[in-house]
Amino acid sequence: MSDCLFCKIVAGQIPSKKVYEDEKVFVFQDINPQAPIHFLIIPRQHIAGLKEASEADAEIIGYCHLIAAKLGKQYNVEDGYRTVLNVGPKSGQSVFHLHLHLLGGRDLTWPPG
Ligand code: 5GP
Ligand code: ZN
Repeated sequence: MSDCLFCKIVAGQIPSKKVYEDEKVFVFQDINPQAPIHFLIIPRQHIAGLKEASEADAEIIGYCHLIAAKLGKQYNVEDGYRTVLNVGPKSGQSVFHLHLHLLGGRDLTWPPG
């Protein structure tokens, strides 16, 4: 998608602090971090959000979670981290390219509000 912020980040047209990448996903630091560890894990392919996902996207959505677990281990936050996938404007979704937040490195309250 030519006008998608996160597609532009994946393409390197907008700079980001890259954490990890492979052939399926790109991971970078959130520009406005809410925790010492705050990464955004995104599929390279454009999916607008969970509502727009189809069965064909099931594997990549699952894969994003496995990458979160891998990074949680790598960044030593296995004592408690959180993945968040905001869906729709009322949830706070502001970028319409599916992304999984990975938050860690501090006490995380529940419920999140
Ligand atoms: P959402 O609110 O849609 O779940 O999450 C979008 C996230 O993207 C927010 O946490 C916001 O700080 C982050 N974000 C928005 N624009 C940029 C950007 O240009 N670069 C980076 N690294 N993060 C961004
Ligand atoms: Zn996109």
